[in-house]
Amino acid sequence: MNVDLVVVGAGLFGLTVAERCAGRLGMRVLVVEARRHIGGNAYSELEPETGIEVHRYGAHLFHTSNESVWAYANRFTRFTDYVHRVYTRHGDEIFPLPINLATINQFTRSAMSPSEAAAWVRDRAAQYRDGDVSNLERKAISLIGRDLYEAFVRGYTAKQWEADPMDLPATVIARLPVRYTYDNRYFSDTHEGLPVDGYTRWFERMIDSDRVEILLGNDFLDRRSAVNKHNTVGRVEVVYTGPLDRYFDRVAGGLTWRTLDFAWEVVPTGDYQGTAVINYADRSIPYLRTIEFRHFHPERDHPRDRSVIAREYSRLARPEDEPYYPVNSTMDRHTLHRYRNLARQETGVHFGGRLGTYRYLDMHMAIASALRVVDRLAARRTV
Ligand code: UDP
Repeated sequence: MNVDLVVVGAGLFGLTVAERCAGRLGMRVLVVEARRHIGGNAYSELEPETGIEVHRYGAHLFHTSNESVWAYANRFTRFTDYVHRVYTRHGDEIFPLPINLATINQFTRSAMSPSEAAAWVRDRAAQYRDGDVSNLERKAISLIGRDLYEAFVRGYTAKQWEADPMDLPATVIARLPVRYTYDNRYFSDTHEGLPVDGYTRWFERMIDSDRVEILLGNDFLDRRSAVNKHNTVGRVEVVYTGPLDRYFDRVAGGLTWRTLDFAWEVVPTGDYQGTAVINYADRSIPYLRTIEFRHFHPERDHPRDRSVIAREYSRLARPEDEPYYPVNSTMDRHTLHRYRNLARQETGVHFGGRLGTYRYLDMHMAIASALRVVDRLAARRTV
């Protein structure tokens, strides 16, 4: 094989490694990808009937406070000034998220000031304030009090994880802030926006180089594939971003993942819900949220009489499903430890990305981590 590096997986992590190794280190890189497209779960395409850009694997919002990641992404695309906001339906009402002063005042039918609202929450959080906040339920109640927890978190979390919030780690909820102002921006990062001409154009520009070749529909772990583990490892350096357990034939057992199902619909209206994302907090509604894609790009020309929506459902992944969220149970952590030891012994192979490290990574985290791997590869080449 006439290349210096094989990157397995064309998601954001793999593409960043490929682009930097080619562009900065002058390496010849082959990227092999099992799917028929690049971009991993951030892949987007135009829905054929309406021409509206849809994120095939669920809503992807780019945001970062990391200046080098922001500068790096801006080399390949400009970003719109889209600011993400999320609303949630509880009972027959729509409330703003993350939980903020507007949510609290609407919920309590009152007009509390920031300090009054904070006192109200403190009152309802007293139960767990000084004690054990090791599980999601205790942690959430310590932050927002029992009433808000039961309205906005308990049902949603149970649907997303199919587990009792008492059995889930507190870290899951760390993503959801509470604010005593009327600021309802979903993210608090310095930079935020959507790629002006879509995610896929952004990713295509990253690999627009003579030194990068892409092979789609090539499953690296299938011996029948043109480029596979058997005929590659040991002969050329590999960056592997596929599922960690599959790389080792699941010798230590399977790592568990949550997957998402999307029910797609083209609806006969120019505006179905008035915003991009509405969460459904109650357990009586089986889906987690409804995404209406046109609202991600208000600057574009869209049909006036049709819109594309996707309802998102969450469930435990079987081996043949797309893995999305690591479950990270106690058993998983034990299994992961064994795979990490095996990975360390695998010479010439670097494991990275969400699937390769069994860590939930936002897009900016995948880029940052890929840039660090390339720094390490560069340092090694100069010694
Ligand atoms: N969450 C919640 N209610 C909501 C939205 C989020 O309780 O309406 C909690 C829930 O426990 C979830 C976590 O916050 O697992 C992270 O949710 P988010 O929607 O930010 O995750 P994403 O799927 O967008 O990465």
